[in-house]
Parts: sequence; structure tokens; C-alpha cells
Amino acid sequence: MNVINRTAPENLREKHIEILKKKQSTLFLNHEFKISEETTEASNPRESDIQHAACLLDRFAPLLTDLFPELAKTNGIIESELTPIKDMGRRLSELAGVDLKGSYWIKGDHALPVAGSIKARGGIFEVLAFAEKLAFENELLTESGDYRLLKSDKARELFGRYTVTVGSTGNLGLSIGVAARALGFAACVHMSSDAKTWKKERLTQRGVQVIEHRADYSEAVRAGREEAESDPYGYFVDDENSRSLFLGYSVAALRLKQQIEKAGLTVDAEHPLFVYLPCGVGGAPGGITFGLKHVFGDSVHCFFAEPVESPCMTLAMLHQFARYPSVYEIQLSNTTEADGLAVGRASELVGDIIKNMLSGSFTVPDDDLFLYLYLLKEIEDIQIEPSAAAGFAGPGLLFGSEAGQAYLADGDLFNALENAAHIIWTTGGSFVPAAEYEKFYRKGLKISSPNNG
Ligand SMILES: *Cc1c(COP(=O)(O)O)cnc(C)c1O
Repeated sequence: MNVINRTAPENLREKHIEILKKKQSTLFLNHEFKISEETTEASNPRESDIQHAACLLDRFAPLLTDLFPELAKTNGIIESELTPIKDMGRRLSELAGVDLKGSYWIKGDHALPVAGSIKARGGIFEVLAFAEKLAFENELLTESGDYRLLKSDKARELFGRYTVTVGSTGNLGLSIGVAARALGFAACVHMSSDAKTWKKERLTQRGVQVIEHRADYSEAVRAGREEAESDPYGYFVDDENSRSLFLGYSVAALRLKQQIEKAGLTVDAEHPLFVYLPCGVGGAPGGITFGLKHVFGDSVHCFFAEPVESPCMTLAMLHQFARYPSVYEIQLSNTTEADGLAVGRASELVGDIIKNMLSGSFTVPDDDLFLYLYLLKEIEDIQIEPSAAAGFAGPGLLFGSEAGQAYLADGDLFNALENAAHIIWTTGGSFVPAAEYEKFYRKGLKISSPNNG
């Protein structure tokens, strides 16, 4: 395990970048991390913005129940479960060769209804917020009105004039495409080269225009932005710069708070909460971190997980979130089976907001993703996609690396570890076709027992 020191970031940057280039699983601490009493800047966005986002989702709930029958059981709320994974936690301990103290849970966004991934939170929120704005401007609706009116021919005719466009590695396209089409918008998704074929097909079947690019995610986003800007009826969901997406994700924290209470868990200084979040451009894990910090303050510790070939947010963090390069500039390929995380350059908007909130980030080789994917199926009978497996490396790195030990010592956390809860955020997977999943699973099986075939 690599030795990482939290002091003197400038002097260590070169060394850390050399470590990144070795493409091994490594935990890095965030030098800009501050406890809440050290932060002086007023927060932007504000806490009330999270509440406003939650209220918008509540207003739309009756309409969503009508549009998506699978939401009937939750009355139109798109939410996932918090599930204990005691046996998987034990297995992670064995793998790490250290006693991973505390309780282990997953936050199962792999099973989020409608979109099948964490993108259901931000993506659907942004489409709804745009629809609401149009409806208000055109006096089809007031905030206290019946949102099911938006199913009317008049509303659909209005929405049908607009095209919602997005650039995506796959899952954001699914989320935006499905939500936009359900309301009657035209939808166009610019897909990066790493997007899986089944994701493109699923969208085409729903009447979404899919434009394939041979280039990476940033290029797909750029192409989408350009196209939408030249169209007066175009609306672009900007995954690299969207406050709306970010706030949609942040609502997860309010919901998780309720689930934590319901599960009988306590989160406070003596009962810390560690959360491990797979990171692509940063919006989803960033929005959730922002929300969790508002809810739990210094008692929550958020770590991001990235593929070894696409550590874009780690790289931003090593540059104090300012003037940072892309992963290509340090000779990494941005090629990974974790398509949801295949992003070469992190969002500046997100970096700015979370720079004092993020505890650290870690990298994971693809082989480990498949191993965790396989073990989660074997041990807990839960199916996820490779991107969603990245967080499982976190606890082993926190307990088993010098960087992790330094973090725990700095935060005076050793005495609280017995009472800690660890939540691994599983971010996607329930829509993966069976044949595709089978391939992932077999790969994981092979990695878990290299001598059997
Ligand atoms: C998009 C995605 C993420 C990360 O979200 P970002 O906003 O890109 O950081 C994580 N997991 C899955 C499955 C995703 O699709």
C-alpha cells in the first residue's frame, strides 16, 4: 500500500501523479478538506436549495405515478433501499486482510426505478424542473395545482415543441431520454464511444434520437451543447455544469437520513458514517456529498471511487480543484469497463462546491470491479454493473492504507470505529440485459478463482 501524507500537497503532487500512473488501487486524501468550523465561505448552493428540489419532486409525484406504473408502490417517489450487507462486509475484511470494524450497508441505486441507475435522481429532476418552468410560463399550471394536468394534450403539445439534448456515457442518456419522452419532449442523446450498445438500443426503442460519437464523453457533451445552442427550442442538460442535476442528486441525502433513522442507526461524533461513492464527472457523488454534509455535518465522511484509468476527480483533488489536467495529460487512457465512470476531466462546478467537503478518493482497477460484482451476487444475490462496484474497495483502503490510517488519526476516529456505519453506494445495474450481466459475472468468477478455468 502506498504512503500518502496529507501535508504539503504541492510537494507531493508529482509523487502522487506518479502513483496514479502505476494504476494500482490507492487512497488519496483531500488536502482541502475542512471540518465545518474551519469553513468560512458561505455555501453555494444553499441548504434551502436541497429542500426546494425535494419539494419539486413531491409536487410531481402524482404525475410520475401515472406515467410510470412501477412508482405506484412509492406514490411517485423514485427512491432506493438501504440494505445491510453483513456477509459481504465480512468478505471485504478477508480480502483486505484487516478487521473492517463497523456495520456495512449498500444504498441500492442500482435498482432505482425508471432509469436503473443513480442518474434517475439528477436526470429526471432536471427534466421535471424544465417542464415545470415551461408550464408556469405558459400558465398551464400553478405550484399548488394538479400536476397531472401535464399529461393533457395541451401540455404535451407544448413540450413536443422542445428537444431535450444531453451528452452521456450511457446512463444519463437513459435517464434523460426516458423522462423527456414520457412528458412528450423530443429527446436527443449524444453517446460517447464507451456507451454500451444495449443502452443505445433501449433509447432508440423509446423514440429517442441517439447520435454516436467515436470520441469520449467530453466530446459527446460538447457536440450536444453545440447542437442545443443552435436550436431556439433546444434545452441542453449539461452534465459538466448543471446546478439543476447537482441539486437533484442532493435530495438523496434527505431521504437517506430517514432511512438511517428507520434502520435504527445513529450518526454522530461517536457513530461516524463513511460513504463510498463511484465518481464520473462528479455530479452524482458531489451532489450527494453536498446533501450529506448538510444533514450530518462532520459526522459523515465521503470518499469517491474511480477507475484507475479514469481518476479525473482524484486528479482535480491533487491540484486543489484548480487548473487541473485531464487524465490523458498524465498518459492514462480513460478506457474502462465502468462506462458510467469513463470521464477524462472532472466538473469544475462540482469541484468548487465540494472542495472542503470531500474526505478523499481512491482508484480501483477493472479486475477488482468484476471481483466485487461477482462477490455481491454470490454473497448477497444483488446484481450491479461494473461502475457500481467501485465503492467496495473503499473500506479496505481506509483501514488498510497509511493514508486511511492518517485520516482516522487526524479525525480522532479510532475509538468510534466499532460504532461506525459504512455505506457503499451501488449506482447502477438493474437494467443490464441478462446476457450482458452473465459476461460480467463470469469475468468476476474467473478473477476470484484464477485456477479454475
Ligand atoms: C454516472 C454514474 C456515476 C457517477 O456519476 P457522475 O455524476 O458522472 O460522477 C456512477 N455510477 C454510475 C452507474 C453512473 O452511471
